[in-house]
Amino acid sequence: MNEQTAYAKTITGIYNKVYQGKNIGKIPTYIPELLNVSPDKFGIAIHTLSGKTFGIGDYQEKFSIQSIAKVLSLSMAYDIFGDSIWERVSVEPSGTSFNSLLQLEANNGIPRNPLINAGAIVICDILLSHFKNAEEEFIKFVRQLANDPTINYSEEIAASEKEVGYRNFALCYYIKSLGNIENEPERVLDFYFKLCSIELTCESLAYIFTFLANDGITLHGQQRILPHVYTKRINAIMQTCGFYDESGEFAFRVGLPGKSGVGGGIVAIMPGHYAIAVWSPRLNEKGNSYRGVKFLEGFTMQTQISVF
Ligand code: GLN
Repeated sequence: MNEQTAYAKTITGIYNKVYQGKNIGKIPTYIPELLNVSPDKFGIAIHTLSGKTFGIGDYQEKFSIQSIAKVLSLSMAYDIFGDSIWERVSVEPSGTSFNSLLQLEANNGIPRNPLINAGAIVICDILLSHFKNAEEEFIKFVRQLANDPTINYSEEIAASEKEVGYRNFALCYYIKSLGNIENEPERVLDFYFKLCSIELTCESLAYIFTFLANDGITLHGQQRILPHVYTKRINAIMQTCGFYDESGEFAFRVGLPGKSGVGGGIVAIMPGHYAIAVWSPRLNEKGNSYRGVKFLEGFTMQTQISVF
């Protein structure tokens, strides 16, 4: 059986099993616009480095990628500023929820890692200080990775989050008070809400992340986006921090670097092999897609391929 047929068969089998099982968890209510999505959506897409693709369920429907975008803004900032970004944000798992304020005071306004809200907000600040129009440059970067000029922010989702984003306002003002934000907090948050609002299908999300499975190089045009060592480090950060205080559990059950978002998406990569994206909006109590984690656990169990 060739690679494509084997993955298609495995994915279909696990998809059906997870689909028939329970769908527990909640849709987050703090971003009103996300409540318009049916909680039973379920889609999966894989993209292998040899160019094979397979998708099932709602894999061609767009959803809000939310925190998954933080990996892309981090990649962009890391490439431009190199290791100097680690003076502004650490690389330790937080062991706390994605929007926690808890460790900031003890850590003097240096967020624990770039994949929690506090860290991603600092990365936004870094990009804003560098570009005249950071929003424009960032979406161009995502379009380049996707090889798709139509990708965009959702103004509705960004506005909806801004209206009630008190927690993120608190984080940003607090970090500013500790001296680790250069720009006006409102401006930083506008960019942060925008990058979280990007909408993608599982199909294009999986494709975008193939560069991290492919040593930093895009599949189209073989364009190097990140040096080898930066790619290695971003994958390490996804492995240790990609699922907030469920990162250890995700490594234990799935064994792949990945990143979740409160829109119900999860993307994971197997270096040298593939990138895979799953979307199912109901979230477990740690804020990660219930069915997404279940599916990926089944997938690495059955394929017996993972980084461990
Ligand atoms: N935009 C969301 C927030 O800032 C992203 C969080 C997430 O996806 N975990 O709260």
